[in-house]
Parts: sequence; C-alpha cells; structure tokens
Amino acid sequence: MVALADIFKARDTIEGVVIRTPMVPSPFLSELAGTDFLLKLETIQPIGAFKLRGAANAVFSLPDSVKGVTCCSTGNHGRGVAYAARARGIRAIVCMSSLVPQTKIDGIRALGAQVRIAGASQDDALAESLRLCETEGLTEISPFDDPLVIAGQGTIGLEAMEDRPDLDTVLVPLSGGGLAGGIAAAVKAVNPKTRVIGITMDRGAAMHESIAAGHPVEVAEVASLADSLGGGIGLDNRLSFALCRDLLDDTILVTEEEIYRAMQTLYYEDRIVTEGASAVGVAALQSGKLGKVSGPVAAIISGRNVDMSVFTRIVNGQDVTLGETTIRGQTYGKGETRGA
Ligand SMILES: *Cc1c(COP(=O)(O)O)cnc(C)c1O
Repeated sequence: MVALADIFKARDTIEGVVIRTPMVPSPFLSELAGTDFLLKLETIQPIGAFKLRGAANAVFSLPDSVKGVTCCSTGNHGRGVAYAARARGIRAIVCMSSLVPQTKIDGIRALGAQVRIAGASQDDALAESLRLCETEGLTEISPFDDPLVIAGQGTIGLEAMEDRPDLDTVLVPLSGGGLAGGIAAAVKAVNPKTRVIGITMDRGAAMHESIAAGHPVEVAEVASLADSLGGGIGLDNRLSFALCRDLLDDTILVTEEEIYRAMQTLYYEDRIVTEGASAVGVAALQSGKLGKVSGPVAAIISGRNVDMSVFTRIVNGQDVTLGETTIRGQTYGKGETRGA
C-alpha cells in the first residue's frame, strides 16, 4: 500500500519546500508522564500545519504536463495545496461553499491560489472540484486518501524515529487517517514495537467508529475545538482506513474540556500556540486515558491555525461557544504553571 521506500522517496521530493521539524521535550509534560514527553512541532511549517508534506509530495510528483491542481478543503489541506502549487509554479483552484467565512477565503488567496465558490455545502464544492478536472484538466488532490499524500505525511514518522529510535509511543491526531496511516507505516517499518495511537474528539470520531464497525461508516459532524479533525473518511475509502485498521495499536477519544485544558497547558507550560486538533495527544496524557507508558512518548503537534478570538478566550479561561456547544471556561494556574 504505502511502503517505507515510498516515504523515503517522498522525503527527497518535498525537501526544500517542507521544514524538517524539531522534536522538543516538554519538561512539564515529561514530569507528568514519568518519561520524556516530546513535541513534534508541525506548527512551524510555512502554512502552520503538517498538511504541506502530503500536498507537496502530491504536487511535485505530477508530470511536467500537469495543467494545475484543485481541491475542496477550506482548512489546512487547502493551504497546503495552495502553497505547494505556488512553489512549483502551477495553478491551484480551491473550491469552497458559499458558507465559508471570508477570513478562510482570504487566507487561501494570500497563498496564491484561486478560490471558486460553488453551492452551499462541502459536497457542492467537491462536485465543482471534480468538474474542473473534467473541463480544465486539473488534478484533484485528496486530503488523506491518496498514496502520495499519505507517504508525505509519513515523513514525520521517519524524522521522529531518526531523532529518537527509542520511542515507546507516538500520539497522532486522527481524522481521515492520512497522517496516522502514513506515520504508522514509517514507524512500524523502523520498529514494530513502537506503539502508534490515533487520538480524536469523542463526538464525530469517523475513523474510530469505522475501525470498530470493520468498514467505513458515516458519523454526524459536530462543532469542536478540534475543527481540523471533523469530517468523514469517505464510504469508498481506498487506503487510509485499511492502514489505520491494520497499523494503529489503539484509538483514544478526548472531550472538548480535555482539549481546552491541553491547549492551555501547551500555551502556559511550553509557550506554544496550537489549534485544538494539535492538542489531543496532550489531552490523552492529562486525562489519564493514555495510561502508563514504559518509555519516551512523542506527540505530533499538528498545526497552529486556530481562530485567535477562540484561542485568546481559552488562554483567559473564558467559555467558548461553538455551534450548539458551550465549553465551560477553566482558569489555568495555581501550582500548574512552571518557569513563569
Ligand atoms: C488534517 C489535520 C489532522 C488530521 O489528519 P488526517 O490525515 O485527516 O487524519 C490533524 N491535525 C491537523 C492540524 C490537521 O489539519
């Protein structure tokens, strides 16, 4: 499916576009874990998230005859495709529904892509993206269910194992499973004993439910602090489902309150700004759901593209309302802040 050789090849392909990120110890979380707890900082990628790796591998693997690329993501995948296409000097059209907020549209445009507004749902945007493939000869790039995208995300696993071959556990935010599948393919090929655990929010956990059911299932989408983890895995999933089913040692679900707390912790203890999706590994440790670990742990801190009005509310311990849900504020401090 996706072999170690594909991931090494991806590394060569994306070199110079993607940053080889550092894995830094968190003194506070290491004390809590009773072992080295390391943060792999994908937040410092030029688009603020790891998705540039997969997008760059897909974009730079296309033949010279390529006419351009398209996708329908409003989030980090759209940013990754836009950035990679500009780096290669080809056209990118990112399709979005009319419900997408102007800030997201502006963000994608600032990275050099064209934005096409189509319909009033994600499905309409995807249909437009596929239509552009037919009519304008563009190539669609999937956010997670594509072998080149998965191999690109897998380069994170290679780097982590090179830096710390003694890793006992790798904690990976889980949505469509391109990230977790790619990392697991790399990590397990290097050391089958290193555990790879997928972590996601407890509501709308598509991959977790699908693994439990034995086949891809649809889940209702609910607003979450981990908005980058929302969405399904596709009922016709070709690759990422089987990879996650076969290679992940476990999946863990965390609550909105636990994600809120973990975002505060990363900010106050490690001075790192993260989006909710990034903080789920830390939430698994802090909530006790990870359980006992017998050696060094790496958490993939997958991105920092958080709505800053939400982030500052969390830092200040205020309530956050998302759709129908309100997450009660919690003040951070009192014996929990070190090195201030
Ligand atoms: C997309 C994304 C994920 C999840 O990656 P999948 O390949 O869909 O599982 C995690 N964190 C961030 C910040 C993301 O943008």
